[in-house]
Amino acid sequence: MKTQSHKMTVSVDEHTSHLEQLKSFFSQLDDEGVTIEKLPRERREQYQLKAINLTLQHVWHHNEYYRAKMEEAGFKQPEIDSLEQLPSVPLLKKDVIRGDKMKLLCVEPKEIGQVHLTSGTSGKPIYTSYTLADQYVYDLLPKYLELFQESDSDIAAIALPYEFALPGLGFQRLFQFAFGTATLSLGKGGYMAPVDKSLELMKEFQATVLVTTPSYAALLAEESERFGIRPGVDIRLRRIVLTGEGCSYTFRERLEKWWGCEVTFFYGSTECGVVAVECKEHKGYHIMEGHVKTEIVDPATGAPLGYGKTGEIVVTTLLREGMPMVRYRSGDIGYLHKSKCACGITMDVLHLRGRMETMLPLNGVDYPPFLLENFLLEIPEVSMWYHFILEKGRLTIEVEPFRTALADEQLAKKVRAYMQERVGIECDVIIKSRLPRTFGKAVRVFVR
Ligand SMILES: [Zn+2]
Repeated sequence: MKTQSHKMTVSVDEHTSHLEQLKSFFSQLDDEGVTIEKLPRERREQYQLKAINLTLQHVWHHNEYYRAKMEEAGFKQPEIDSLEQLPSVPLLKKDVIRGDKMKLLCVEPKEIGQVHLTSGTSGKPIYTSYTLADQYVYDLLPKYLELFQESDSDIAAIALPYEFALPGLGFQRLFQFAFGTATLSLGKGGYMAPVDKSLELMKEFQATVLVTTPSYAALLAEESERFGIRPGVDIRLRRIVLTGEGCSYTFRERLEKWWGCEVTFFYGSTECGVVAVECKEHKGYHIMEGHVKTEIVDPATGAPLGYGKTGEIVVTTLLREGMPMVRYRSGDIGYLHKSKCACGITMDVLHLRGRMETMLPLNGVDYPPFLLENFLLEIPEVSMWYHFILEKGRLTIEVEPFRTALADEQLAKKVRAYMQERVGIECDVIIKSRLPRTFGKAVRVFVR
């Protein structure tokens, strides 16, 4: 076996890389019986600084693009003295790497174990290459036992795309290797597990956890009625983890009622992996500070913004050898604050505001669609399927009625009045008896 490439000997003992030094930090935590979640800030920051410097050295020595950019910015050696100096490292924009599968590669191509790519809804896809050690060793080093309490007695149904995207395969690895949980790899309505079969499997195996997108959780719930399967009775989930699209609190509440379980949010991306996860308090996402360092910058100038200021989320991965992301501009908007969370987790808290390109400019204010959704779904006669269409500065909302005796005209009037009263915006409302469902990413916002 020794003659094989390291793909065959990816075990913790055999593989070595620049990340080797970080293993001792995590094994020390294991010895102390603690996780990174509740560590005092200073100790976690020491780890982060070390991980960032190891990453900077790695990209400097193994990637021309990163090195050229750092040299342009005046770096003579790949090192920062403190986390406060991180903004001196150049930002990485999406358009630089879009469609280019080699640009950020920091290992020999033969060392790649898995290629992921983004859906490419806004242009050419972004390729992310992982070594097997990235996937099976380093990605699993930090443990978050407060945020994930799953175990080998759970059954996790994963209803996320498996083809090329990270989410399905990423959660599969997490559940199997970190918690020993059996997984049902449902995907999203594909050939082997269409909606009816997915529901049957969840019932048959008594799934306790469902990981999916908000829109697919809604679709599964509403379709279950057609197949005589009762969520909460025939399928008794302990929790649902939502990822991929983001949704409002009222959307979540409806899912919690429908499925009869807790619903938590998970924020990550194909490029960066896990970034932040909601705790039981449901008051923002804790940054997964073992995996990433996040910053907030001014989207126009790239200048760093402090705690409490809303701007673009920038992510640096700490545990990657194949294709590390250094100060990657995510295109997502949010703000950070220091954790004072009742859950006891000391990792920073992120408040996510949505994607930059889907903000709705109305009356001179940029409205995040989730904010509008939050109010819209407070109206019980409105279903979880809707469209926001912005045309020449005027908002039209297409809504589908939900279990109501109201005539279309009455419902339209009610929605118009409610949005005027709660958000202070005038809009047109069109009632549609049925809006299209999707197995892909739900697109609800159209700016024309
Ligand atoms: Zn918390």
